[in-house]
Amino acid sequence: MSKYIFFTGGVASSLGKGIAASSLGRLLKARGVAVSSQKLDPYINVDAGTMNPYQHGEVFVTEDGAETDLDLGHYERFIDENLTRLHNVTTGQIYGAVIDKERRGDYLGATVQVIPHITNEIKNRIKRVAVASNAQVCVVEVGGTVGDIESLPFLEAIRQFKQDVGDENVMYIHLTLIPHLGAADELKTKPTQHSVRELRGIGISPDAIVCRTEYPLTPEIKQKIALFCDVKPNAVVQSRDAQSIYQVPLNLEAEGLAELACAKLGLGERQADLDEWRAMVRRIQRPKETVRVALVGKYVELKDAYISINEALYHAGVAHNAAVEVMRVDSEALEERGVEALQGASGILVAPGFGARGIKGKLAAIRYAREGGVPFLGICYGMQLACVEFARNVCGLDEAHTREVEPETPHPVIDFMENQRDLQTMGGTMRLGSYPCHVTPGTLAYRLYGQEEITERHRHRFEFNNQYRELFERHGMVISGQYLAANLVEMVELPAHPFFLGTQAHPEYKSRPTRPAPLYAGFMQACIEFAHRAEGKAEQAAERIGA
Ligand code: GLN
Repeated sequence: MSKYIFFTGGVASSLGKGIAASSLGRLLKARGVAVSSQKLDPYINVDAGTMNPYQHGEVFVTEDGAETDLDLGHYERFIDENLTRLHNVTTGQIYGAVIDKERRGDYLGATVQVIPHITNEIKNRIKRVAVASNAQVCVVEVGGTVGDIESLPFLEAIRQFKQDVGDENVMYIHLTLIPHLGAADELKTKPTQHSVRELRGIGISPDAIVCRTEYPLTPEIKQKIALFCDVKPNAVVQSRDAQSIYQVPLNLEAEGLAELACAKLGLGERQADLDEWRAMVRRIQRPKETVRVALVGKYVELKDAYISINEALYHAGVAHNAAVEVMRVDSEALEERGVEALQGASGILVAPGFGARGIKGKLAAIRYAREGGVPFLGICYGMQLACVEFARNVCGLDEAHTREVEPETPHPVIDFMENQRDLQTMGGTMRLGSYPCHVTPGTLAYRLYGQEEITERHRHRFEFNNQYRELFERHGMVISGQYLAANLVEMVELPAHPFFLGTQAHPEYKSRPTRPAPLYAGFMQACIEFAHRAEGKAEQAAERIGA
């Protein structure tokens, strides 16, 4: 039977509940415990796929093609387990399922209510993950903050869990904020007290409280929280702001959170093997050099919009002992002010995206990279636009475009897939999830993947138009990856360039801090080499003028 750790949040949103939950998952896994994780999202959308990044940050895609909350990305990166659509539950899914059952007649005779029908559906979905993933411990995060109206059924469901599976199999952890008041130079515990009181009002008594704080908590403050919130002093755990999110598991380890969890859940005393993780964090802390990479996209001002891409770049940096400085370049600003914003970048990554906004900027960035020999990685839309740019400026098809932006273009080098043309619904209808790709031997992509058969995750509607294959190849573009069964182009590259590669997939979703995605690792290597060459040139120039 599985055991469950439920994470709730209080005081404020964005405290990093997902990171805390993922970190504990990692610490348990390091102790040889089989771990899985799940996110319960109280919003009514069926999944995150239809929300824009302003609403929700990035959409994370699982192997089986679920469009999920970005916290699933943290879980996968920290716990290093692939998750599925079962691992992200929303209010929309729950109500959808209950209403379907009602119409089918499953509840015949009953008044269908939040308690027990909605709460039972929630509990079943939590248990289903435990069974499907064969986990000893499921770390379950409830989205939102305690006190939100929409999270109430979820909190009631996890409250009942203790009754269902026994106190010894359940742990509740509440994450709060301990604000620091500058004027008084004091850490304040009152919001935490209020938040725990609110949680108790719902019937949940936390077994541990994780306190996000800028400054260290003194023993007195921990005592005070323990007393007012009725937990043991060692169950008040601080989580200080960390330079890197990958430091957080080690901080929580030092605070004894995993030991606390093992004790509560009767898992016994276990040695943690964190050697690999610690080595990775040490590399993060002591980089040999810094590489500047431009990330060109239309949501660059949003911290969470390209989280997996940022992480994949960092992972690739770690592998090369380099700190990565991501220059966020707004594609619309590029459109207005030109490519000066790309000065100083040792590599250019053009981000995924949808629609016409910022497109000219992205095309300008791609041209700048192609003509200037600057390492270029195009992810999905970035790859598609690299094809548009190539068609226009190399193949001479001035009006080439993607059908997504210009339905009437005479040269749709990027076009609809047959089955997407007459689609009426938007939710969950793109090419989603993991697809196989055959990598052409002798190409850059092959050098990086080191094998012919790979898989990567997808999230897009449009594809390279095969009618233009020959023309592209004649002009020097190489098709280095294909989904053979459907005759689709997956990767393109320019062998005459130091590193110019576009992929229809999203390799960032599979990147791990200790195992970077091959294309990102190769891109980073090229960026480092580009930076060294640039430095060399600057030195030579300085010598020439006798500086
Ligand atoms: N808008 C493009 C498509 O739907 C690319 C999507 C993406 O970048 N993920 O095909």
